[in-house]
Amino acid sequence: MTHQPLAIIDMPPKRKRGSGIVRHPRRGLAALRGMQGFRRVVQVSVALYIAWVVYDRAIVAAAGATGTSPEALCPFGGIETIVTFLTAGQFVPHVHSSNVVLAIAVLLLAFLARGAFCGWICPLGFLQDMVASVSSFAQRRSPAIFRGVRALRRAAAPLAVLDRPLRFLKYAVLGWAIWGTATFGVMVFRDVDPWIALLNIGQESTGFGLLVLGLTVLGALIVDRPWCRYACPLGAANGIVARFSPVYLERSAPACVDCNLCTKSCPMGIEVATATKITSADCIGCLECVEACPRAGALELRFGLPFGGRS
Ligand code: SF4
Ligand code: SF4
Repeated sequence: MTHQPLAIIDMPPKRKRGSGIVRHPRRGLAALRGMQGFRRVVQVSVALYIAWVVYDRAIVAAAGATGTSPEALCPFGGIETIVTFLTAGQFVPHVHSSNVVLAIAVLLLAFLARGAFCGWICPLGFLQDMVASVSSFAQRRSPAIFRGVRALRRAAAPLAVLDRPLRFLKYAVLGWAIWGTATFGVMVFRDVDPWIALLNIGQESTGFGLLVLGLTVLGALIVDRPWCRYACPLGAANGIVARFSPVYLERSAPACVDCNLCTKSCPMGIEVATATKITSADCIGCLECVEACPRAGALELRFGLPFGGRS
């Protein structure tokens, strides 16, 4: 991940001597051997599997038969139906038992590995990562594209003040989706869900969902992971569970050289370089900050009691 949200001017980092051993970053193909290479392999594998399920469904539908819907692979549908079942004693349309199993698995993962589902598995997160990567690549190759994206970011720079307050929007979306489903017995979020729109492309009308998907892709040119930061109800649910997780990242001030590379590499815009313990509900567990850190021991995964002595 390379671009920071709405940031225009990169100030030179303040340097200091740290006690950690210097780590030299891998470049080119060697970078694929690292942790981020492994993360990309996981993301690509999941995306290919989902693409195959969507393709298979389209073939089955074209033959006039009915097959398993790719929506059966959406964990958020499971969360909605669990709450609806507990409050109203009923299941909702479009939900399969696999949704419920996946929802429980994702929430368990959120406890054990914070937002790792979002950072390592979710194909919609991967799509946003790819838009950012392709944009960075094109900007390096083409001065015209570089100038165009820079102009777009300059125009959007005043919106940076909205970054923090807008992050609460996803909790409102989560509340609305769960309340609406429990009240009306249908998944009210489904019509605006970009993930459902992506799964059903070419199958049925997904008007608003497609619009949200398009806005997400466009937004990813300006700010990393806009859907995850501001609107994803599943990310919000993961973040709430992750608050109780015993796993977190810790920055060691004696080893740190204040280079700010961790903050710059974070796709969720978390101020890693000034924190001691990174327990943000927005952390997607991608570990890009750890890979970017040039000092061994300056930024490491820790295991401890929830809430115990965190900053
Ligand atoms: S803090 Fe680190 S692990 Fe968490 S989202 Fe940012 S880069 Fe990824
Ligand atoms: S923790 Fe962040 S600021 Fe400190 S050395 Fe590592 S990348 Fe640089």
